[in-house]
Amino acid sequence: GGLVVSFGEMLIDFVPTTSGVSLAEAPGFLKAPGGAPANVAIAVARLGGKAAFVGKLGDDEFGHMLAGILKQNGVSGDGLSFDKGARTALAFVTLKSDGEREFMFYRNPSADMLLTPDELNLDLIRSAKVFHYGSISLIVEPCRSAHLKAMEEAKKAGALLSYDPNLRLPLWPSAEEAREQIMSIWDKAEVIKVSDNELEFLTGSTTIDDATAMSLWHSNLKLLLVTLGDHGCRYYTKDFKGSVDAFKVDAVDTTGAGDSFVGALLGKIVDDHSILEDESRLREALTFANACGAITTTKKGAIPALPTVSEALELIKKSSS
Ligand code: ATP
Repeated sequence: GGLVVSFGEMLIDFVPTTSGVSLAEAPGFLKAPGGAPANVAIAVARLGGKAAFVGKLGDDEFGHMLAGILKQNGVSGDGLSFDKGARTALAFVTLKSDGEREFMFYRNPSADMLLTPDELNLDLIRSAKVFHYGSISLIVEPCRSAHLKAMEEAKKAGALLSYDPNLRLPLWPSAEEAREQIMSIWDKAEVIKVSDNELEFLTGSTTIDDATAMSLWHSNLKLLLVTLGDHGCRYYTKDFKGSVDAFKVDAVDTTGAGDSFVGALLGKIVDDHSILEDESRLREALTFANACGAITTTKKGAIPALPTVSEALELIKKSSS
């Protein structure tokens, strides 16, 4: 199979052992490996695909622990760098009473922000069939330049570019800056996935309809996806559009559902880009991706909850009977 290379941050989320409490009230925290681009790479590998993660970790116990997690999950670490000075990033995560997640980050700066263009493993990046990234790596230099260079090299070598902005507002100097920077690379990507919240944020519209989604369309784009949590997803191509329902599951923690969804889809597209032009096969791939997203909500944490192919197929089979 073809290689999916995912670029960006990998970090440790500290999740309260008790849910529904503030950070100050939390009696203790569990450490959960995270970072959306790393989750996507692991999702691809868990489903049997070939994946690599490109990014920088601290040369500390947490950094080496994360590198070990990539390895145990079959993700190539050939694109990893380690910073001697800065620490692996940490994020403390709380679930507010309305179900929204709140993040408090420790990055001043963290190792992921210090990846330089010179440190990139260009051979690895040029061997990608799909190159995936988010927007957190655009926030500061030198990582921003590394991100832009990696994207350009992957593109030149013929990779399909996939973008999940993965908005984390507290990390940006301002909302305007976030919107501007996220949109600055918008027209490079051929596959873009946004959540309903991100669609609202980027368009400024409070109605989530086809017109709002299509206002984000650009001429290089092959597939635009809007994920809607337990309402499934919507898809847009230049020739067709539609929606695919979610699976019914008992959700306990939605962390990583979007990354699982993206990884599942990219794992399908990487070996056959023609899925993007064939609506019935695209719907089949999105059904699989929805199943993977749904399963990821049924266990705590992102990475431990990423499914295998047989778990996903079992949910699809169970739901259609
Ligand atoms: P993340 O929380 O990782 O940022 P996201 O907001 O990008 O995720 P979601 O819309 O939450 O993405 O989830 C992605 C997909 O996972 C959905 O399109 C859906 O198929 C599935 N999913 C998410 N939440 C649920 C749920 N509660 N029940 C069933 N399926 C779900």
